[in-house]
Amino acid sequence: MTIEKTSISASAVAPFGLPADPDSLHGVAYTSPHTLVSQTVYSTAAKVFAYKSAGALESSVQLWEAFGRANPQEIVPSLTALEVRSGAANAILGYLSQRASHTALPVLTPGSALNFIQPTLAGLTADKLPLSFQVAALDYDEATSSLVADYVSPLKFARELGYSVVTPLSAAEAQHMTLLSLALSKLQPSLHLYDGPAFLRENGRIENVLSPTELAAAYTQLAAQTPLWESLPVAKRPAAALSALNAIFDTAYQPFEYAGHAEPTTVFVVYGTVESELLLQTVATLAADAKIGAVAIRVPLPFDTAAFAATIPASAKSVVVLGQTVGVATTSALKADVAAALFWESGIAAPSVSEFTYPASFIWSPLILRKVLSSFVVLPEAAAKPVVYSQDATTAASPHGSFVFWSPDNGQFVEVASKLAHALSLDGASRVNYRAKYDNVNGAGSVHAQIASVPVAENSVPGSVDAADVVFVEGTQILSAYDVISTAREGATVLLGVSTGVVDLTEFVEKLPISFKRDLAANKNKLVVVDTAAVEFPETEGYTASIVVQVAFWRTVLPKLGDHVVQKLWQSQGSGIELLPSILTTLASKCDELAVKPVEVVPEWAQLVEELKEGETSDPLPFLALETAFSGNPRTSEAAGEPEHSVYVSAAKRLAFKEAYGTTTSLRPDLSVRNFVVKVQENRRVTPSDYDRNIFHIEFDITGTGLTYDIGEALGIHGRNDSALVQQFLDLYGLEGADLVVVPNRDDAKLVETRTVFQAFSENLDLFGKPPKRFYESLAPFATEEAERKQLELLGSAEGAADLKKRQEENVADSYADVFAEFPSARPALSDLVQIIAPLKRREYSIASSQKMHPNAVHLLIVVVDWVDSRGRTRFGHCSKYLAELAVGTELVVSVKPSVMKLPPLSTQPIIMSGLGTGLAPFKAFVEEKIWQKQQGMEIGAVYLYLGARHKKEEYLYGELWEAYKAAGIVTHIGAAFSRDQPEKIYIQDRIRENIEELTDAVMEQNGSFYLCGPTWPVPDITACLEDVVKNDAQKTGKKVDAAHEVEEMKEAGRYILEVY
Ligand SMILES: Cc1cc2nc3c(=O)[nH]c(=O)nc-3n(C[C@H](O)[C@H](O)[C@H](O)COP(=O)(O)OP(=O)(O)OC[C@H]3O[C@@H](n4cnc5c(N)ncnc54)[C@H](O)[C@@H]3O)c2cc1C
Repeated sequence: MTIEKTSISASAVAPFGLPADPDSLHGVAYTSPHTLVSQTVYSTAAKVFAYKSAGALESSVQLWEAFGRANPQEIVPSLTALEVRSGAANAILGYLSQRASHTALPVLTPGSALNFIQPTLAGLTADKLPLSFQVAALDYDEATSSLVADYVSPLKFARELGYSVVTPLSAAEAQHMTLLSLALSKLQPSLHLYDGPAFLRENGRIENVLSPTELAAAYTQLAAQTPLWESLPVAKRPAAALSALNAIFDTAYQPFEYAGHAEPTTVFVVYGTVESELLLQTVATLAADAKIGAVAIRVPLPFDTAAFAATIPASAKSVVVLGQTVGVATTSALKADVAAALFWESGIAAPSVSEFTYPASFIWSPLILRKVLSSFVVLPEAAAKPVVYSQDATTAASPHGSFVFWSPDNGQFVEVASKLAHALSLDGASRVNYRAKYDNVNGAGSVHAQIASVPVAENSVPGSVDAADVVFVEGTQILSAYDVISTAREGATVLLGVSTGVVDLTEFVEKLPISFKRDLAANKNKLVVVDTAAVEFPETEGYTASIVVQVAFWRTVLPKLGDHVVQKLWQSQGSGIELLPSILTTLASKCDELAVKPVEVVPEWAQLVEELKEGETSDPLPFLALETAFSGNPRTSEAAGEPEHSVYVSAAKRLAFKEAYGTTTSLRPDLSVRNFVVKVQENRRVTPSDYDRNIFHIEFDITGTGLTYDIGEALGIHGRNDSALVQQFLDLYGLEGADLVVVPNRDDAKLVETRTVFQAFSENLDLFGKPPKRFYESLAPFATEEAERKQLELLGSAEGAADLKKRQEENVADSYADVFAEFPSARPALSDLVQIIAPLKRREYSIASSQKMHPNAVHLLIVVVDWVDSRGRTRFGHCSKYLAELAVGTELVVSVKPSVMKLPPLSTQPIIMSGLGTGLAPFKAFVEEKIWQKQQGMEIGAVYLYLGARHKKEEYLYGELWEAYKAAGIVTHIGAAFSRDQPEKIYIQDRIRENIEELTDAVMEQNGSFYLCGPTWPVPDITACLEDVVKNDAQKTGKKVDAAHEVEEMKEAGRYILEVY
């Protein structure tokens, strides 16, 4: 396997994730072309401006800047994000006016923002502006409510301002064309204009990716040549720049690219990344039997008329322009350029020029292009390509073909396609491409994902897949929104996933839509019902259904795979890789036996006719997915209980008149950090049930949430109060859980939030926390009983401080709820209550997984906090208890907290990790990161692990993993101290001191980093060990040192890192 997996986050949209490091992109990479554009500008610039837009063009640059990744000039480029509004470009001009250098300044922008930039740039002299606009042709099309690649508007902008434009003809050109536009911008502003939706959203294998160093070197070489281009006429400069690029990379780029017959009679001309690649590929193939040719335009502006005319072979009688138009235009600007160039160069002998115009919302696919071409020329019959599923029976077998997945956007199997794409991409002999589109309109929200896998020697076919070898559909609802059979090749298998259970298969098939059955029969498709509810399997609870669908897929494409399917599941599972093979084997055989149900497609179905009710028409359904958004429909909160009139009316008004009230629906609006909804996928106690400490390992499925995390970071959990206790309190207080309460936002009092009373007390208020003095003070005025009021006043006053302290120490009435029970006359109204009880705070937990190894999961290791209060009640910590009890499948809100716990910059620097109890959590993540580094071929330094617990039998947390990683050569040494397993007490510091020589070498000679995590109490002992290491080194080298001071210095330098709580 030669493929580098550089992802730090993977999702239903991006199975290969965003790269954590621009350096990791080189050679062969699985990524998106826009990421390469970002990497190129990051490698060559000190500053990047970016306009905000759908698809977050700036996300990679922002990530690398946040990670402090320096580029080859040893600079961490700084990013300035700009709002799309007129005047924002002044910030760019201001920056340019203040800097001395004349190097290119990249601006990442959607095409739709250029309208707002134009007025600012209009009157300026172009040769004083080294601006390189990296333009994602991206706009919102009102007519179809979709995100489209509008080229017309950016070209108009460039034409009016006299700027040059270059456009890549495939993803593989992304870096080169970015470099070209950067170099050209040294003379005057230039645009690198590419297909926004495709470059942002398509992920796949790209070869010959240049590393940041190579990019910087190439840029320097190109930039050195700009004085030569300056002396040329403006129209000739891009061609000269392309020649210089060709000399560096041994490429053959021209402003116009020709493919097809040597003596064509008809030549098609196209502009735009996806359409160019598709047309060049298609025509190159068809030209074996048809006298046709194709020209794709790499440099649309300035349009070099002579070079264009020279690209059209003399045999051409007719030229057909495929031209994009917007609005009411009936002819494209491209046609005008083409016609003028041909007439100018050849006069009346020029070939005739005709045109096919299409709007920006037009969806290109191979069949559609063929249809377009065949309306101008007679094409050879397309030989029907039979569906042949691979007969290979080994784990290495990776099927080639195209696969389409349709799901409702809140469906259970939304992420299956991305997992399969990931698994397929692990085969170094395959070129896998992946694209997911959200259509939030049709079918009440659907996701359409496509995977195309071809041998590496072949090119993937761009555009939408319209002849898939396997089509998966989740549920029958989509069948009435999309004509899914139209995307299936003749003879392909259609997998129909059903999660609601199929009691009687015959009856189920009977009820399938007539048109679906008719099309299946007409297209000679096979139908397999995948009844995911038929398999119950506790070991994989929460994701059994997803695995069932994956088994059905592998059984279809690799029918002879047998038990090797387990490896495939492992590969695609990612986050679940710890599952034992025996478990997966059992699950797979259950799927085969119970879930995968082939259905006979009866040829007579082809004759079925729908009975239309009066007034109904049988309009054809769409078959290629529109991309109406870059994410699914927003979640809406569930309506609660019976309405309480007045407040419900106000909530209803806010929802009905959103604009007037400025209403937005958001996840925990009270919290200012970025939140994600994740799902529990595993929750397992790791200490014996009769042991006094309940330590548990919990995993969350983060698929499709966009949540990303780095090594050493912590997960912030917004826990909920115990529902039964909340209800008990509401009953005591006389509150109705379903009533609504409107609370001001804590950050911005102008905003109000509406929620149910039960929600407020479960999720927002620290009802069972320890009340501070201030609370007693605030509560006192509400007490109607004199004695209670006085007592509360005292506790809230300076004089009562000693009393309060005593109460708190003795755990008398230790929570807000207890205080209300103790003072029954103090009953503030709901609106006051929500103000005087402190808000619930999030708790943090060190993340125990590396996202490189678990792209779709977060692991935590947690101990349930408990204590016994003065009344003998066992009390539990709010969040640890809440988490311990979460069932698999439960959703909860989390956020990510950055941390100082970083690995040293070089993979070869040793790491020494020490911790007690749950302090081991981040070390599991560290070790997984080391495994990943090793898998990438990096040399890794020594890894020492010191851990302490009372008994090995009960508390050797992650013991099997450490032993396995040691056996695998990742962990160098495990120093485990089980204090009570032998007569004499052995502590973690004893184990560390046993290796003082090795550690002196690792820390002092090899610049290693030392970590301590978990409870605070071992800090002095461990710090003393590190001081011993420093002293030992001083002794050897004959230096005099202040060891305590040295260790402090190490702390400062981030080489002695403590995360204690
Ligand atoms: C960066 C970081 C990483 C961490 N990583 C981990 C980890 O990996 N694993 C892990 O298990 N923990 C970790 N923690 C600790 C974790 O964040 C929580 O502090 C811990 O789980 C306790 O939270 P809780 O809500 O369960 O308890 P809380 O409700 O916060 O109670 C904590 C303590 O407060 C006292 N207390 C609370 N309420 C009352 C009351 N009403 N009356 C009297 N006393 C009361 C009790 O003594 C109790 O022990 C980490 C903390 C930090 C800061």
